Amino acid sequence: MFHSVPHVSMKIPNLLDIAMAWARAANPTPEQALRAEHRLSMCNVCEFKAWSTLTSTFLCSACGCPLSKKVYATGRDACPKGIWTE
Ligand code: SF4
Repeated sequence: MFHSVPHVSMKIPNLLDIAMAWARAANPTPEQALRAEHRLSMCNVCEFKAWSTLTSTFLCSACGCPLSKKVYATGRDACPKGIWTE
């Protein structure tokens, strides 16, 4: 079951990496797009995937980041629960 509201005790994301992820999401290389698609497939079955009614998008409830952008982060450690494999 998906959480609907991000946790209050969210892990603070690497803000620079998240900002770069937004930029990459706008014009990804084929390799970045493939990696993002793979990561999103893991998020789609993750218990921390949450719908935000405020922004009308899916978030990671463990950190509060929008998934469609977060999956373009540089390192797999951007997943706060260590679920991403790449
Ligand atoms: S980033 Fe990690 S913890 Fe967050 S929804 Fe995706 S797989 Fe789950």
